[in-house]
Amino acid sequence: MIKPLIKGLGVTLKHLFAPAVTIQYPEERWEPYPRYRARHIMYQREDGRPKCVVCMLCATVCPSRCIKIVGIQDEKGDQYPRRYEIDLGRCIFCGFCVEACPVNAIGMTTHYELDGPTRESLILGLEEMMRPPRG
Ligand code: SF4
Ligand code: SF4
Repeated sequence: MIKPLIKGLGVTLKHLFAPAVTIQYPEERWEPYPRYRARHIMYQREDGRPKCVVCMLCATVCPSRCIKIVGIQDEKGDQYPRRYEIDLGRCIFCGFCVEACPVNAIGMTTHYELDGPTRESLILGLEEMMRPPRG
């Protein structure tokens, strides 16, 4: 009877004096692992246009159905996105879109501070994707 009590007290005391595992955010920032998957990025062609060729593989493979793409074609027949959006409010950061891309047009950064006052503000547009995230 007394043995389990002492054992339980021992566990409590052990955790009482253990160092805290939380950090004082935002004064302290967590350093993500290099392969951490967060905010997406769109790479650019040499002429500054998005590298995406609008094959739609990323949107097809996305389990959350949170990628929307509207393509456009130039006079040479090259396709590129006029609109490319990822709804980060629905994204589960699985990375399937990055894996599926045949031209390595998109990637994921370690930028995990994703917030916004509305659901709409969590939609990542093409311009933002082509701008490296701050911090
Ligand atoms: S990381 Fe996964 S859920 Fe998010 S947009 Fe890419 S495929 Fe969709
Ligand atoms: S898979 Fe790559 S090239 Fe194809 S639509 Fe998505 S980002 Fe563009």
